[in-house]
Amino acid sequence: MARLILLLGDQLSAGLSSLAEADPAEDVVLMAEVAEEAGYVPHHKKKLAFVFAAMRHFAEALRVEGWQLRYTRLDDPENSGSLVGELERARAGLAPDEILCTEPGEWRLRQALAAVPGLTLLPDTRFLIDPAGFRAWAQGRRQLRMEYFYRDMRRRTRLLMEGDKPAGGEWNYDHDNRGTPPPGITAPTLPAFEPDAITREVLELVERRFPDNFGDLHPFALAVTRADAEKARDHFLAHALPRFGDYQDAMRLGAPVLFHAHLALYLNIGLLDPLDLCRRAEVEWRAGRVPINSAEGFIRQILGWRECVRGIYWLHMPRYAEANALEARRPLPEFYWTGDTDMACVRDAVEQTRAHAYAHHIQRLMVTGNFALLAGIDPYLVHVWYMAVYADAYEWVEMPNTIGMALFADGGIMGSKPYAASGAYIDRMSDYCAGCRYKVKLKAGPDACPFNYLYWDFVARHRDRFARNQRMGPIVRNLDRMTEARKAEIRADSARFLDALVPAGSRWNG
Ligand SMILES: Cc1cc2nc3c(=O)[nH]c(=O)nc-3n(C[C@H](O)[C@H](O)[C@H](O)COP(=O)(O)OP(=O)(O)OC[C@H]3O[C@@H](n4cnc5c(N)ncnc54)[C@H](O)[C@@H]3O)c2cc1C
Ligand code: SF4
Repeated sequence: MARLILLLGDQLSAGLSSLAEADPAEDVVLMAEVAEEAGYVPHHKKKLAFVFAAMRHFAEALRVEGWQLRYTRLDDPENSGSLVGELERARAGLAPDEILCTEPGEWRLRQALAAVPGLTLLPDTRFLIDPAGFRAWAQGRRQLRMEYFYRDMRRRTRLLMEGDKPAGGEWNYDHDNRGTPPPGITAPTLPAFEPDAITREVLELVERRFPDNFGDLHPFALAVTRADAEKARDHFLAHALPRFGDYQDAMRLGAPVLFHAHLALYLNIGLLDPLDLCRRAEVEWRAGRVPINSAEGFIRQILGWRECVRGIYWLHMPRYAEANALEARRPLPEFYWTGDTDMACVRDAVEQTRAHAYAHHIQRLMVTGNFALLAGIDPYLVHVWYMAVYADAYEWVEMPNTIGMALFADGGIMGSKPYAASGAYIDRMSDYCAGCRYKVKLKAGPDACPFNYLYWDFVARHRDRFARNQRMGPIVRNLDRMTEARKAEIRADSARFLDALVPAGSRWNG
């Protein structure tokens, strides 16, 4: 037999480099659902079902196209439980001359596959810059600022460009992207996709094999084929993108998606293509259906942030996984898994995460991420949580966002200052505080919003480090101006609150 093509669960793209190299008449594609990948973090049930259902549908599509396929299901009695084990089983049966695989999106798996004799890793061409290109861009720069990277990517891809100038006159319209939706505005409803027989079989498998995992499996309405993911994409472009920019940072109780795309899960698994998506957003702007702040803001997330975090991941792994610049050691509180907290903002973010395997960026960054930052929770444990609970979570994108952007544990590689905020920010951007048991305007005492005193306790704990940070300097000076009595009050409130946190059980705490 000629070649064996190992196709991973997040490589469900027709134009994948390994498939492009292969010959459907001679080569065999290997896909495998394995316990090791399903269990190395306690994935949300919906995420497991999404990945397995999308894999099975993709396999079916390959068969229809005429590919020869070897597909191991999770409950096949012969399943060895690991991708390398499945490769070796296939090698023993098929005796291929060569094994091909497109680069995996995770350092751990890359190490494992790189050690397999006869296996060639091919570049993942679904990204707009490869790790070597990013390394070259980063070389010699003291700080990796996304904004400069993003401008270079705009020039490189010609997205939103007029000659050598940015379309509309500015590179970045973030200043127009901080509105809150006025009462009465309703966000579009996400399209729902009825599970077919293949998906229903997967749902039954997940329920049976992962009964104790976090998250609601039902209702399950995610797209699991490219055609349906494209319907979700078109729905977003027509109905939500026009207001994406204006309300990008807003949060509303019980409204998980607002005007966000809810497309990262389809991009990251390979059902949608990032460059194609950006081009379509640009077309909407050029046709006058979408304002520039929405089109540019959306394209920046994909062209800038998405590509940049991947570059940072491959540049700094494996050390990045252990980064803990602020020496945060607290265990993850149980409410990250139960939602059982009086903090209305955190409760809403966790509850909708449990229901949908989704929360939008500001909830991830400024609610659950901000709390973990202020409370000093161990970054690795926070990483495991984010990696487990979101349907779009793969290590190359989740880890830099969690360890770098949300927790500042990389000491400033991802951002020049921590994204720390008191309750006033959450109050300004959301409607959570009105219904919360805590009072956002109170700064001290048992009824005060915990974000208020935890914020200052965080600044005080890292005072010396932040005093050296240009952007944190004014905040440190505000702290220094406080009386000793006020500082003692902050310490006491914070200690009372933090000491009362119930840690999650050991299964969830590393
Ligand atoms: C702590 C934390 C953990 C995160 N974990 C993940 C993760 O596991 N997987 C993931 O894809 N994103 C992650 N993000 C980034 C971002 O929150 C999600 O991409 C976004 O919420 C997905 O929802 P959406 O498709 O509605 O995105 P939108 O808000 O509509 O944005 C459009 C697209 O831009 C891209 N994007 C936006 N922000 C980022 C970013 N910071 N990094 C990379 N891509 C971005 C996504 O592909 C997204 O689909 C994380 C952010 C934080 C703060
Ligand atoms: S008062 Fe504080 S804890 Fe309550 S919702 Fe507002 S920010 Fe969150």
